[in-house]
Amino acid sequence: MVARRAIGEDCQLFVDANGAFSVKQALGFADASRQADIRWFEEPVTFDDPAGLRHFRERAPDGIAVAAGEYNYTLDDARRLLEAGAVDVLQADVTRCGGVSGFMEIGVLCEAHHTDLSGHCAPSLHRHVACAVPRLRHLEWFHDHVRIERMLFDGAPAPLDGAIAPDLSRPGHGLEFKAQDSRQFMVGESG
Ligand SMILES: [Mg+2]
Repeated sequence: MVARRAIGEDCQLFVDANGAFSVKQALGFADASRQADIRWFEEPVTFDDPAGLRHFRERAPDGIAVAAGEYNYTLDDARRLLEAGAVDVLQADVTRCGGVSGFMEIGVLCEAHHTDLSGHCAPSLHRHVACAVPRLRHLEWFHDHVRIERMLFDGAPAPLDGAIAPDLSRPGHGLEFKAQDSRQFMVGESG
């Protein structure tokens, strides 16, 4: 309720257990948090337990979307979660799932399972490929990554009304490494 009070009534409240709960603990948490109106519960139980995720999903309060998939490294990882009916929204991370090609393949797999896809963190690296998948729900705006992207790259996106879009005036993913700005973080350089 502290988080709900902090964000007010007009924002959706998302929570992420990082797989820390058992199914019963996650159900207990969700039940005890009904008044907070949680809309997204990420990894209520570990992604390694698709049956447990499905068990939670079938018994969780209405309105909670169950998500998992940030640890999808292969197409089979994503397929197992989808085939088990483990999630309302699958996640994928372009830095882990085989890059742009892997993310695109998972996007098609989601389409075949009538399930939305959400991009996990690293918003600068997702914004182009996320536009190319058929069922994108949203893209996680992870502040630590945003901060680092802006420190080290020209062309990192700035949100406008809660959305980002590719900068079509720049080639490729739109990022250019700030070599000079990065030198202060260099380690192992003598002198
Ligand atoms: Mg997470």
